Amino acid sequence: MASSFVKFAKIVVLLSLSLLALVSCSVQESILKSAFGQQAAYFSTDDTETNRLIKISDRVYTYNWYFDRTLIIRTDAGLVIVDPFSEHLVVGMKKALEEAGIDDNVHTLIYSHYHLDHVLGGGALEPAHVIAHEKAPSYWRDFDERGASVLAPTRLIEGDTDLEIGGVAIKLIYMGKAHSDTQYAVYLPQEKLLYPPDTVSVRVFLPGGGPDIYMPGFLSALDRLALLDFDTFVPSHFGIGKKSDFLESLEMLHFVQELAELTYAKLDSSRPMFMDKEGGEAFFTEMYYPLKERYGDWHGFDQQVIAAMGRHYTGVYVGY
Ligand SMILES: [Zn+2]
Repeated sequence: MASSFVKFAKIVVLLSLSLLALVSCSVQESILKSAFGQQAAYFSTDDTETNRLIKISDRVYTYNWYFDRTLIIRTDAGLVIVDPFSEHLVVGMKKALEEAGIDDNVHTLIYSHYHLDHVLGGGALEPAHVIAHEKAPSYWRDFDERGASVLAPTRLIEGDTDLEIGGVAIKLIYMGKAHSDTQYAVYLPQEKLLYPPDTVSVRVFLPGGGPDIYMPGFLSALDRLALLDFDTFVPSHFGIGKKSDFLESLEMLHFVQELAELTYAKLDSSRPMFMDKEGGEAFFTEMYYPLKERYGDWHGFDQQVIAAMGRHYTGVYVGY
């Protein structure tokens, strides 16, 4: 009787443990699934849900197709467009320009960097000139069909490059090892406007902690842009802002980076802190609360703060 009871008890314990494992597995999966689902709220905002042409000045327009925002410069020689993004954006932009009574030819298409989400669909614009960084084509060759479909540049450039097209000065500022080593910010000194694709946005916590390939290069490139004389800040994603918005975002990046450096110094010990639960929790406390206090009301804080903590800390730890 006693041994039957023990057997029975063992079975009950085993079943309970298996059930518990199943439940905790499904709870963990639900949390992960929900976290991914929440990212939709990050990308879908009032700015990204309205596809529209916005006139910034007589010379400058911007058109956004959902999450992507292009820059359109009206020169006396024709349009200069920075980044076609996709066939969808180009179709929408052409229609919007037509509706606005703008039927100028496209004089020049500029690719801000090689990334495929910025450079597709340009052929339909039939530009007379296409400009990209000299390393861009070598990247496109790695991406078969989509890479091959990029409208080929007619001019490859390196370093800072000044253009003068139809009475408009266009300064292409090379950003070095920032978000890509093929990246340019576009500065229009007469318009006092800066379009620095895939850098920072307006009061937005950046996806994944920052779209950089090398944080020191990214920060120094942005510090250099901060010295320019501009009033209007047009990000390639989310809403349009002022120079003060650009500076505020740059300050946020420096704050997270410095916090990661302080946290690294504070928690450094002979045994890596990330191998202990207490170490991990101390890391969370050191980084999360100061960030929440300053930036808790920024768009995307909840969805991106963990990624930002990880990105900046790992960057400090590893050196990238
Ligand atoms: Zn990019």
